[in-house]
Amino acid sequence: MPVKEVFFPPTERLMAIEIAGQQVDLQETLPQGRLVVFGVRPCDARGVKVLDAAFVETSPVDPYYAARRKSAILIGLACHQMHPGCFCTSMGLSPVDGRDMDLMLVELERGYLVQVFSDKGEEFLELHPLVPGPAVYLDHREEPALIQPANKPAVPSPAAVPWLKRFEDPYWEEMAERCLSCRVCAYACPTCRCFAVRDEALPASGPGKYERIRCWDSCAGENYRRIAGGHNPRPQNGQRLRNRFMCKFYYYPQQYGPQACTGCGRCIELCPVNIDITEVLRDLAEVEV
Ligand code: SF4
Ligand code: SF4
Repeated sequence: MPVKEVFFPPTERLMAIEIAGQQVDLQETLPQGRLVVFGVRPCDARGVKVLDAAFVETSPVDPYYAARRKSAILIGLACHQMHPGCFCTSMGLSPVDGRDMDLMLVELERGYLVQVFSDKGEEFLELHPLVPGPAVYLDHREEPALIQPANKPAVPSPAAVPWLKRFEDPYWEEMAERCLSCRVCAYACPTCRCFAVRDEALPASGPGKYERIRCWDSCAGENYRRIAGGHNPRPQNGQRLRNRFMCKFYYYPQQYGPQACTGCGRCIELCPVNIDITEVLRDLAEVEV
């Protein structure tokens, strides 16, 4: 699972609600404490950056996500090699890209190379100095290390796809014929962030006790876009599949800045019917790679 669940849990309580007669008491349940997230891979750290753009850097700020994010330090671990399904190098990353972390470890033969990428990382090392040994300490805040392995076939850049021109393309319905709307692709994705909010009664806690929770949801699900009165503006599988890809590469960058795919390959590996994001990019790009 992606590291997003640390900051944006699959289910979380937003408020405790108590109703007594006409009196309604709402109590916000903001997260407390500090977090050290250890072993984050570069694609997941980028996923957190992508989520920051929507939850923290755009108004209104999400106080639940922001509280966890503020209290957390990301200590990453570089990948030795690319997994067969991942394509991070085509999405502007690399297996040793620590730019989105505070600190990153690179495993060496007899220890670790420790790279610092933020002031938070620097402060952490001051509080927890490295023991003398084979570990090496380098400051990479100015010049992040980028190694591009040449052993992966390139995937077309999302910029090579004329997304608006493809909006009415029958391709979406054809591709979606096999989509089960299971939402696994979104739940496993480090950048998907859609959610639903609902109130639930807590009969075991006594009369008048409720909680407001939010839980992950996804545009791949049939009910996601259903609105009051029962109307659903995206009733077809193809419309929902199109939305997933347009969101990643067109809507999200327009609204928040970064593209919402890090090339981690999880959705490719987990989709039960083999819908492959790299295949979609290849099919839709105007330039062959
Ligand atoms: S490869 Fe799939 S799971 Fe990974 S970031 Fe891109 S869309 Fe999400
Ligand atoms: S994982 Fe595959 S089948 Fe499930 S919703 Fe995503 S694209 Fe459709």
